[in-house]
Amino acid sequence: MATMIIEGERVGASSGETYQVTNPATGEVVDHVPKGGADDVDRAARAASKAQQPWARLAPAERARILHKAADHMLSQVEEIAPVLTAEQGKTILESRIEARRFGENIAWFADLADKIHGEYVSLPDATTYGLVLRKPIGVTGAIVPWNFPLTLAANKVAPAIAAGNAVVLKPSSTTPLATLRCIEALIEGGLPEGVVNVVLGPDTGESIVTHPLIRKVALTGSTPTGKKVMAAAAPHLKKVVLELGGSDPCIVLDDANVEEAAKAISVGRFFNCGQACLAIKRLFVQDGVYDALLEKLIERARRLKPGDGMNRDSRMGPMHTVGQRAEVEAQVQDALDRGAKVVFGGGGPQGGEYDSGNFINPTILVEVPDDSRMVTEEVFGPALPVMRIKDLDEALGRANNSPFGLGSSIWTSSMKAAHRAVQELEAGYTWVNALQIAHDELPFGGTKESGFGKEHGLEAFYQYTEQKSVVYGLV
Ligand code: NAD
Repeated sequence: MATMIIEGERVGASSGETYQVTNPATGEVVDHVPKGGADDVDRAARAASKAQQPWARLAPAERARILHKAADHMLSQVEEIAPVLTAEQGKTILESRIEARRFGENIAWFADLADKIHGEYVSLPDATTYGLVLRKPIGVTGAIVPWNFPLTLAANKVAPAIAAGNAVVLKPSSTTPLATLRCIEALIEGGLPEGVVNVVLGPDTGESIVTHPLIRKVALTGSTPTGKKVMAAAAPHLKKVVLELGGSDPCIVLDDANVEEAAKAISVGRFFNCGQACLAIKRLFVQDGVYDALLEKLIERARRLKPGDGMNRDSRMGPMHTVGQRAEVEAQVQDALDRGAKVVFGGGGPQGGEYDSGNFINPTILVEVPDDSRMVTEEVFGPALPVMRIKDLDEALGRANNSPFGLGSSIWTSSMKAAHRAVQELEAGYTWVNALQIAHDELPFGGTKESGFGKEHGLEAFYQYTEQKSVVYGLV
């Protein structure tokens, strides 16, 4: 049975309760897990608080060295961790390997910054004094993670937090805790001091993290409704929050685009991880002149995406993570059909044999999807792509921005002028021009509008795990 990681101990829930983690491809039980509660979060927060000061007092170069060593050790275990992620989450083993590697690489990327915190010298009006602006760690931070990319999204929070000298209480999604535990365990085996990262498990532990007085900042990746609840619960404590929430990324393809490259990127952008990605192409706007050609290429690519158990070598798309998630996507597709949309590829789920025991779904492409259908107004968290025909860039930008979300966005065009306009006008935290929608370590990532605020990745994320402090030195 899996255990939580609190203050150097491997513990069950104080209540003694457990729950099951099941495999989305087979329905089989993968493991039993402690169902932690408020008491366990309290213990983890105290442990983190105790570990934080000595961690922050280490010479920054020493912190960097420890983190690099821990990351290297974790990376040596990617082959063992990846199948655990596939078993609990459903994604293909290839996707799991990529994700497990990203965990270690992310720790290493921020480790490089641990000894590069810069402050400022400020001259003051009175020449007998001068000012400094320091950056200090915030203290204990809470990290709350969803199930779609359990490792990447945990690392996005844990890596900058610990590199900057904070300690962490980490809560994985209740359905995907196992690979995360393995990653944190590997960091500890690799030399990360016990207590710097504590892991609590259980569906309701997020609420306790948000309100715990020792936890000074909360970073959440989750849905927009959860983000609103977390922000409201954090408000009475004036707690800092980073909210990485839902998205409905528009992609615009103009007549002068490289259609082959666009099709490749859109196919990955919509169907990677069985469409269960925040940064995913969820609304496609295609100009008249390339509409038919692009659609044909997208269908050709979708045809190659054989659904199946992620551990099978020939599977190209794992199952949906839960029955409820699959039902939600099916209902959104049905709503579009009821409003006059047409399926040009896929629809429904594969039947028979292995398919009957898992949450499998077919990659699906729809056309003539009206703007008031759920596929356009809501986030579609699964492998279904609505394709909309547009006359020109004006129409595309208007319809792309007509959304409560503002996470990613992309445009394919060979016109500098059109690209420039899209970059300026698309309401999103990220715009890719003629490029695959992937989040780079080097660039700040985060949303606008109801996709949240605050950044992950880049120097910006690192600095968001520090607080500025002004100091006046008198020379008398
Ligand atoms: P979710 O909001 O249901 O849960 C996310 C995490 O929050 C889980 O660990 C959950 O237990 C916890 N949680 C739920 N209610 C809480 C509360 N009231 N207080 C504290 N914690 C609480 O999301 P999900 O279904 O696990 O993940 C899918 C969603 O995440 C999608 O909307 C997706 O777009 C979004 N997401 C966003 C990003 C991003 O970077 N912007 C990345 C990945 C996923």
